[in-house]
Amino acid sequence: MSQYWTEIVHQLDPYVPGEQPQDQQYVKLNTNENPYPPSPKVMAAINEYDKGLLKLYPDPDSKKLSAALAQYFDVEVDNIFIGNGSDEVLAHCFQAFLKQSKPLLFPEISYSFYPVYCGLYQINYQTIPLKTDFTIDIDDFSQKNGGIILPNPNAPTSLLLGLEEIEKLCQSTSAVVIIDEAYIDFGGTSAIPLTKKYDNLLVVQTFSKSRSLAGLRLGYAIGHPDLIEGLTRIKNSFNSYPIDSLAQTAALASLNDETYFQQRCAQIIQTRDRLCAKLSDLEFKVCDSSANFVFAEHRTEPAAQLYQALKQAGVLVRYFNKPGIDNFLRITVGTESEIDSLIAKLRDLLP
Ligand code: PMP
Repeated sequence: MSQYWTEIVHQLDPYVPGEQPQDQQYVKLNTNENPYPPSPKVMAAINEYDKGLLKLYPDPDSKKLSAALAQYFDVEVDNIFIGNGSDEVLAHCFQAFLKQSKPLLFPEISYSFYPVYCGLYQINYQTIPLKTDFTIDIDDFSQKNGGIILPNPNAPTSLLLGLEEIEKLCQSTSAVVIIDEAYIDFGGTSAIPLTKKYDNLLVVQTFSKSRSLAGLRLGYAIGHPDLIEGLTRIKNSFNSYPIDSLAQTAALASLNDETYFQQRCAQIIQTRDRLCAKLSDLEFKVCDSSANFVFAEHRTEPAAQLYQALKQAGVLVRYFNKPGIDNFLRITVGTESEIDSLIAKLRDLLP
């Protein structure tokens, strides 16, 4: 608290990210990072990067990376916006499109950064309750709104909506619909092709999860050129150079290694299936995951205690002390051996 703060700073309720312990003594299954390193092509590109370039500002428009993303997703360059992590892309979306006289709608259980952006940009919002099994009924969004945002698969529930439902959402409103596809590569189908049909649809993705580049901070949005121009106007009124030149180089290399990308995603999906089966054996109820994490509730043991006990045993998972989900653990799909350690610790802890 400081006398120098403006009024808005006093009002903010900032997002609290999962712990990032610096001593590496934990099996870290709490922030949905990819347990595998980035592609060897990324490593090579970073090694070969001309360090002399660091004295120069990077390309403010990340043109090469935009062109590569456009080709990868079969869209045009003017359909692509790139930002410093998808969190930054989302922040710009909130500021560019979602402050309207009618409320923004998003699911009651969803990415907890959304209400934080609403606080930052003073956006009026309304949350839509989920069904008791955490599924989303698209019809519940059929009310007056100034925009809709949801993660698909949803976080932290891990549940996926089909493209027919995304299409229904786009048809149901004249406002912008933002689909946050941070976890789409782990079993979902992207709505990117639908952006050609619906000019109010914007799809946001990230290099952080499926491409193992969370430390590089790269996210992007794909949609109609008018939406992209809106985001670019915000970006160029905020920070002209959000993507450093090393990140641009490394991201290009990542897009150039489709085989590695597909193999790692397939491995995570396979490990996830094994994790779900083991958790069920241990009397957990597990949501049907299409993400690189699972959301699970034990039949008898409170999640808060399990979270603490696992932490003491050296395994970090995510616990949200929030109504409706305070008996669930969100567990990132790690390597096979990390999952073995988790299961062994749970066996020791559970009655
Ligand atoms: N959307 C969702 C649903 C997320 O869980 C996350 C990761 N916390 C993000 C976006 C942001 O990811 P990043 O900024 O690393 O791209």
